Amino acid sequence: MGKYAALVDVSRCTACRGCQIACKQWNELPGEKTVNRGTYQNPPDLSVATYTLIRFKEVSDKDEIRWNFFKDQCRHCLEPPCKEAADMEVNGAIIQDQNGTVLFTEKTRLLDINEIREACPYDIPRQDPNTKLMAKCTFCADRIANGMIPACIKACPTGALAFGLREKILEMANERLKFVKERFPLARLIDVDEVSWIYLLHQPEAEFQMTVRAKGPITGARRALMKPLGALVAGTALLGPVATDSPRE
Ligand code: SF4
Ligand code: SF4
Repeated sequence: MGKYAALVDVSRCTACRGCQIACKQWNELPGEKTVNRGTYQNPPDLSVATYTLIRFKEVSDKDEIRWNFFKDQCRHCLEPPCKEAADMEVNGAIIQDQNGTVLFTEKTRLLDINEIREACPYDIPRQDPNTKLMAKCTFCADRIANGMIPACIKACPTGALAFGLREKILEMANERLKFVKERFPLARLIDVDEVSWIYLLHQPEAEFQMTVRAKGPITGARRALMKPLGALVAGTALLGPVATDSPRE
């Protein structure tokens, strides 16, 4: 069980992207050259240089147009499927520290990125094409070890992000959910018992640009589907991402 947890209350996110910048600053990640794609979502996707990203989705509903923002990043699963898949190939490539934080090590360069991505329910791991090292959010394990809160959470000006002991964050999440439900009856917490990064969504999941795949232990059958040919099938049928392209992100 993770000692710490974080709450992402997307109903409070204004997409200022201060969290994106703070993450880059703290982790000394370079900027990425991008082109104008007609969207404020920039860069377009997570990468080894972008551990967190605000995803934009525009939703038309009768007379109303809504713009929903989603801070994507590793959820630090309590029983991480990425680690389970990695352990079958290279011991110690993906580890979990004493706080429950899931960390990629240098040994990830020995893993097959497609297998690790398929194993992740949220499609988070990315690989450097040159070094073959894999990377993702570290939950700012170095800051936490020194009594500081994660850089992205510290930077958030609207209170959309919170960090603390897991029990406290769960309490806060349930309190906040009660409040948000008064205005958005469909609001709910996502995967609370499975992850350290808990999301409060005020609209249905399909109204956000996010990826959620079928979950479950990596059994022989599921593993077979992760192999190259199977991955094709898995991508379209069994494990097909729910994320949908928005008319405009
Ligand atoms: S979200 Fe994906 S990358 Fe992060 S711990 Fe879970 S399985 Fe691993
Ligand atoms: S917890 Fe740290 S590494 Fe993870 S997204 Fe936030 S700033 Fe980046």
